[in-house]
Amino acid sequence: MADKICRGLFPSRGLRAVYVRVGDTARMARVLHGLYPTSAHLFGEALAAGALLGALPKDGGRVNLQVECDGPVGGLFVDADGAGNVRGYVRHPRVNFPGDPARGAHAALGGSGFLSVLRDVGGQRYRSAVELRALSLAADLRRWFAASEQVATGVDLAVVSRADEPLHEVTGLLVQRLPDGDDSAVEAVRGRLAAGALRDAAARGAAAQETIAEVCGDGFELLADAEVAYRCGCSAERARVAVSALGTEGIGEVLANEREAVVTCEFCRARYVVSEGELEDIARRLAAQEASG
Ligand SMILES: [Zn+2]
Repeated sequence: MADKICRGLFPSRGLRAVYVRVGDTARMARVLHGLYPTSAHLFGEALAAGALLGALPKDGGRVNLQVECDGPVGGLFVDADGAGNVRGYVRHPRVNFPGDPARGAHAALGGSGFLSVLRDVGGQRYRSAVELRALSLAADLRRWFAASEQVATGVDLAVVSRADEPLHEVTGLLVQRLPDGDDSAVEAVRGRLAAGALRDAAARGAAAQETIAEVCGDGFELLADAEVAYRCGCSAERARVAVSALGTEGIGEVLANEREAVVTCEFCRARYVVSEGELEDIARRLAAQEASG
């Protein structure tokens, strides 16, 4: 089964549903970032959450999910868009609490922190945040929806581990009341999610529509079905822009010491070397801008 996002409606009950499967994406991210099992578990949940938020139809733009916490994992960041591209990083990748993964994830988050969502819609940025209370990404995401969104929402994230693979299966499901829907339909889905319906389906390896039917009932009409993948938009050009931010003085120091700049992308670990000649070009351009400026 490939990673994907399924968006659709339950017209008779006035519900919108979004399902994501990001198992391959999360396993690739685990390798990229060298994540130990507990860091990987939390990052898998965050990738599923980011993909769900990115797929909400009103946005269209980018969505960032950010967690700051005082536990060993420190925090994490996920960047997602409506086209199924996700990427991100974990502040401390090498966290592992053996035993129950959910309990380990709870311990890794610590005792306090924030979950915030930043949306970029048509160049306008909107941020809303909640304190981490449940110290569980799924539960605190539910609190975020309750605090930030005007519509009744049910959401859950499932990470299933198996033997030495902490990310055997990673899924997420979100249901929202449509303007003509009623809250009791969302309530019913929330009840099944609370009873572990998403996790049970993920553990059995259920396909997307099978999972949606099990958790939400019959009558799903698929609107869109898109691939999800870990994709990064970094480039040598962006690395040069990042180096420009050092200013003429900072670039002068790099030229005097290292003679070249190495920029590592925090999302995909790609390394870009900005050569001595390129640094001199950038410094000349910046100096000209400062002189004219
Ligand atoms: Zn990158």
